[in-house]
Amino acid sequence: MAKSVVTFHYTLRNKEGHLLDSSTGGEPIAFLEGGGQIIDGLEEALLGKPAGEKMQVEVVAARAYGERDASLVRKVKRGQLPVDELKLGDMFQTGNDRHAPVVTVTAIEGDDVTLDANHPLAGVDLVFDTEIIGVREATQEEIAHGHVHGAGGHHHH
Ligand code: ZN
Repeated sequence: MAKSVVTFHYTLRNKEGHLLDSSTGGEPIAFLEGGGQIIDGLEEALLGKPAGEKMQVEVVAARAYGERDASLVRKVKRGQLPVDELKLGDMFQTGNDRHAPVVTVTAIEGDDVTLDANHPLAGVDLVFDTEIIGVREATQEEIAHGHVHGAGGHHHH
């Protein structure tokens, strides 16, 4: 079955208009249809659109990085953490495995440190300003690998 590779630029803001992320000025993002590289709500909106199309796409939190999960927030003692200096907003990985969850320091009160393992964008409704840069048919090899090769994709060959 034919699948598309879509290349696009985006600027991401929350509903209050604060800039969260942008690909502008860098390499555009490329994704393979159905490859799970970008959030579902965004992929759905971009598929089938021609190169040059600009549009704003809103993706509610539940369809983006999910709702916040209160059970992922916990308090630890400062001494339990393997770091000397701590400040609000610090992020670190909870293990040596590169897939170990990343936690954010969200409060420091005396010796108590609150760590939040929710994705930083959990619970945030996202507003993307997008521009389609290119659309082409995926190669058999890309479909077999489940990701894009070349510009904006993997360079592992
Ligand atoms: Zn590959």
